[in-house]
Amino acid sequence: MNNSHNKYEAVIGLEVHAQLKTKSKAFCNCSTEFNTAPNTNVCPVCLGHPGTLPVLNRNLVEYILRLGTATDCSIREKSIFARKNYFYPDLPKGYQISQFDQPICSEGSVEIEGKKVGITRIHMEEDAGKSIHDLSSDESLVDLNRCGVPLIEIVSEPDMRTPKEAYDYLTMLKQLVVYLDICDGNMEEGSLRCDANISVRLKGADKFGTKCEVKNLNSFRNVSDAIDYEILRQIELIESGGKVSHQTMTYDARDKKTIPMRSKEEAHDYRYFPEPDLVTVYVDEEWKNSVKQSLPELPREKFNRFRTEFGIPEYDAEVLTQSRGIAAYFEEICSKVKKESYKTASNWVMTEVMRVLNDRKISIEEFNVSAANLAALINMIAGGSISNNIAKEVYAAMLLSDSKTDPKQDPAYIVKEKNLLQVSDSSEIESIIKKVISENPKETERYKSGETKLLGFFVGKVMKESKGKANPKVANELVIKHLG
Ligand code: ADP
Ligand code: ZN
Ligand code: MG
Repeated sequence: MNNSHNKYEAVIGLEVHAQLKTKSKAFCNCSTEFNTAPNTNVCPVCLGHPGTLPVLNRNLVEYILRLGTATDCSIREKSIFARKNYFYPDLPKGYQISQFDQPICSEGSVEIEGKKVGITRIHMEEDAGKSIHDLSSDESLVDLNRCGVPLIEIVSEPDMRTPKEAYDYLTMLKQLVVYLDICDGNMEEGSLRCDANISVRLKGADKFGTKCEVKNLNSFRNVSDAIDYEILRQIELIESGGKVSHQTMTYDARDKKTIPMRSKEEAHDYRYFPEPDLVTVYVDEEWKNSVKQSLPELPREKFNRFRTEFGIPEYDAEVLTQSRGIAAYFEEICSKVKKESYKTASNWVMTEVMRVLNDRKISIEEFNVSAANLAALINMIAGGSISNNIAKEVYAAMLLSDSKTDPKQDPAYIVKEKNLLQVSDSSEIESIIKKVISENPKETERYKSGETKLLGFFVGKVMKESKGKANPKVANELVIKHLG
């Protein structure tokens, strides 16, 4: 980066859409199921036929209240819907039901690495259909299955200053919606969508610069790359004497560039007005309280508890609380091992377990090794009956078993079956050591004449000869004794 760029500071605000996991649509009984045949999850209501009336799905309100509560928002007692009017082939009604000046949740915040990012508002709306331009060269197709699928929009304050902060904020939001079980959080599949608003200003300036809005950011990577690019573009424009103009851009992930879509002057006038077909949504104290009671432990709280209860490092607590499932798996192991093994348990979950989940592209819920069996394995390491290396071998065998309840997944069974029990018995190890010494006379001579760094060589040979089963600590001591 050019030195003069250091004078500038970026200002970033995100608008995030989350597709909710309700079974039926926002205002009709159609299924929200993904990947069904085009135009099959539709009815007169979501197709906007005249004379039909929308009926609000209570779960949509319940879900948004969960997020609003988890982000410390004020919950509006009475809120209404509004029509946002625009024409597009994938919007048969000609308007989208949304909320305008009376969002149900407002003025909340989330915490990222010790910094608070304000949430301006969270409101309810419905999704539009999908236009498909790439199935045919001379026509566009439209699939209306997505019409009326419930969305919430989360608008942040312009509180972020770096692409990293924006990335962390988005990560936190994703984690929250997944923890709250209201959205599956998958950006690539469009269940979480992000628009980024970006401006730059001289450091210390009290007014914000003119912002641009970048749409179409469909991965975490794209969000941070697009912001990076846009900050640089704006700084260079200003440095070369130009002015940033208020624009909507799209992000081209292949060229890693933002491209202007339209300027705000020619932007839509949505002619918002109150939706006449839906009644006011009332949220009384009782409803608010029941949501509060039903919230699970949130990622931040879990993170803090893991640090104190299990004494694991920050990094570990961060990784292990990424998902509720991983956290529960780790906790179950800890409930079955001694305190001294908590860190070992953390290492196993973070490396061996997560590696397999990644390789197999599965979630922890689909993982075939039970927490109980992994705990048993960790206890065998701690008790000295197997070494770490043998444990990896046992684990590999556990991975091949059919299911969590397969008796062949029991590490004790595998150790017995494969004859892998660690040998700590001195006489057995000593006979191996004698063999190794007699087979390596030169090295023995060198060791005895003071080249003690050869110790590792001998211990290695002993371990190899025992097929990894010799207790390394005992082997070490006995080799010193025999060579000394
Ligand atoms: P608009 O009227 O263009 O919709 P809003 O004030 O509603 O703008 O803000 C939309 C989003 O843009 C919010 O997330 C907000 O935090 C962010 N934002 C507002 N002003 C700026 C700015 N100057 N620079 C960066 N982001 C901004
Ligand atoms: Zn419908
Ligand atoms: Mg706005």
